[in-house]
Amino acid sequence: MTHKQAPFGRQNIRPAVGSVLLCLITALYVLLVTNRMFWIKASGYFTAEPAAFIAFIAGISAGVAGLFILFSAKYVTKPVLIFFVMVASVSSWFNDQFGVIIDKEMIRNAAVSTGAESAHLITARFMTYVLLTGVLPSLVIGWVRIAHRPILKKLAYNTLVILACTAIFVAAGTSFYKTYAGVGRAHRDLMDTLNPVMPIASAVRYVIDAQRNSDVVAEPLGTDARRVGVVDKGKPRVTIIVAGETARAQDFSLGGYAKMTNPELAKRNVVYFPNTSSCGTATATSIPCLFSVYTRTQYSHRKGLETENLLDVLTRAKVDVTWLDNDTGSYDVANRVSYTYLPPSADPRFCKDDECRDEILVDRIDGWLNNIRGDSVLVLHQLGSHGPAYYQRYPEEFRRFQPDCRSNDFSSCSQEEITNAYDNTILYTDHVVSMVIDKLKQRANTVSGSVLYFSDHGESLGENGIYLHGTPYIIAPAQQTQVPMLVWMADDLAKAAGFDMACLAKRAAEGTYSHDNIFHSVLGMMDVSTKVYDPKLDVFAPCRTPSNKLALNR
Ligand SMILES: [Zn+2]
Repeated sequence: MTHKQAPFGRQNIRPAVGSVLLCLITALYVLLVTNRMFWIKASGYFTAEPAAFIAFIAGISAGVAGLFILFSAKYVTKPVLIFFVMVASVSSWFNDQFGVIIDKEMIRNAAVSTGAESAHLITARFMTYVLLTGVLPSLVIGWVRIAHRPILKKLAYNTLVILACTAIFVAAGTSFYKTYAGVGRAHRDLMDTLNPVMPIASAVRYVIDAQRNSDVVAEPLGTDARRVGVVDKGKPRVTIIVAGETARAQDFSLGGYAKMTNPELAKRNVVYFPNTSSCGTATATSIPCLFSVYTRTQYSHRKGLETENLLDVLTRAKVDVTWLDNDTGSYDVANRVSYTYLPPSADPRFCKDDECRDEILVDRIDGWLNNIRGDSVLVLHQLGSHGPAYYQRYPEEFRRFQPDCRSNDFSSCSQEEITNAYDNTILYTDHVVSMVIDKLKQRANTVSGSVLYFSDHGESLGENGIYLHGTPYIIAPAQQTQVPMLVWMADDLAKAAGFDMACLAKRAAEGTYSHDNIFHSVLGMMDVSTKVYDPKLDVFAPCRTPSNKLALNR
């Protein structure tokens, strides 16, 4: 190794490290410090077979080391290692603090979330953590001098080390192949938590997906759609769909929750569906899925983009559709209908720091109703219970459950405070949806109104160490997949159009439902007939008078 003289004749105090050694040390650091969740999961899944676990540790470590050494080349090593360390640091924070797994759907979620939303996650503790586990080691990597071998020698030496790593990886994999295959199948989430490899792979997969999907044109759907069963020509039929955000079924007192979180809806003669599951565990999945013609098992992001949705079918039946958004957008659902994103209005009555309370949606209903010309559907996309800053979702008068967590840093609040803050958001949603119903009641003489409310997914509030949402569906806890859903319908509309609400209430209480029902139920509510309508998925169909059923089925 040659020794370079530092300027001004002083000895250079920056230590020299071989590039392969630096890669190995960095790999070891990342494996030890930023993969807590990965090792905890792995040790849990391999408890019955300690030998397989030891081989797994050796194989994974060798694999990660080999991958890092792949980037051992002049001008490449340092930036790549720093990138790996920073990604691993940030990802591990979300793994450990929220139990969040950074898979492709989570990246999609992050990519489409608003600045205000993301800002809530940047807490002082987050900054400190990233400073200590990401920035500090990166500074060390930047500071040391790398001693590179002459190019040919380096090529030979690096190849040798990478081959050795690969050999260990393969040997470990084949020696306990059956165990690994079994664990892999049963616990698909395990590898998703390996930092920084999987978050980077997920991001790459997301970008490739986005590229491939950028020129997709939605295929027409329900071209035969038309309104049938028009009962009162003078009175437009009006449905308001309140698309909720992050409300979980468990905390709705309409479904039996011990705290009274639905005092206003309880007085409004709504039909509540206590057993309803969501399509996804994140907005970016659930919203396009539930407005699509596909069921949860059929749906994919690509298929959603490639096909028109419920709103397009309604439009084809000459129903006017408007989407007002107070959340994070329509996820391409409202691409072909009237759409307004409300936060930029910065209405001082409701908005602060780029976010608005959901009453802004209620405030816009009268203006919309004044301008409707015929049968119409209004979608109100709520900010709802979006975390972690639950306390910013509701005004002072809805701080009914106290003490409530007043921070977006969960570690500074007790479990009780977090739950109270969350329950106050539900209480506020109870108020908002009730006000939507009241707006239509006030117009009972001029419109035939109904309201459909559902949440997009639930939320974890610390059960089993998991917070927020977005857990891969197959392993997601019920708190994230069980959502509230309810219907309100004006009495005269129900009577005239043959909706038996007592029958519906009975079926709602007894049956199990899901987002799969929404597409077909809204077509049922609006009496839109089309061959893509499936009465088996319309919650109203079994409770309609025969003549109305016949009309819908043509
Ligand atoms: Zn959501």
